[in-house]
Amino acid sequence: MNDQPASPAHASPSVTALRIEAIEALLVERRLITSDVVDAIIDTYEHHVGPMNGARVVARAWVDPDYRARLLEDATSAVGELGFGGAEGEHLVVLENTDAVHNVVVCTLCSCYPWPVLGLPPRWYKSSAYRSRMVREPRAVLAEFGTTLPDDVELRVWDSSAEVRYLVLPLAPGDAADRPEDELVASVTRDHMIGVVR
Ligand code: FE
Repeated sequence: MNDQPASPAHASPSVTALRIEAIEALLVERRLITSDVVDAIIDTYEHHVGPMNGARVVARAWVDPDYRARLLEDATSAVGELGFGGAEGEHLVVLENTDAVHNVVVCTLCSCYPWPVLGLPPRWYKSSAYRSRMVREPRAVLAEFGTTLPDDVELRVWDSSAEVRYLVLPLAPGDAADRPEDELVASVTRDHMIGVVR
């Protein structure tokens, strides 16, 4: 006996989980999908697609000026060089932060997001509060993420869409050239690449 709470594995499934199971069972029964396809999609987004891909793109751009130039010129193609691409990443644009400019991304209409390099969007990115306030009072929203932007830094807010999806290239650390690329990759977060953190 111990006084640990019951493991979640033993908790009963949530209403959402039951609903998802029922929908999947119906779609399989009607031969619209197969369970293998569902498993493959889940595996993709749990293990192969996420901010770790974007972080690799950023780190490469920090250490390789030619790659950075290609990335800013045609992000979809440059991201493809590292093996990333596919659904919701067909028209990527990379926005470079500089000492004078900070970029931040929102989708005011819904939740458009560059899946191949960032995975699925966080819940707050889809909230109506983020989508409306990031346009009306972006500096206040950034402050809530702990990001205080100096007044002399220009803030550019980009509205993502189904046609164009943005990835922010954060400022490189001063010693980027002397650090192993893997260490740089580990230093880049999802929030840096959305632009809510500088
Ligand atoms: Fe959207």
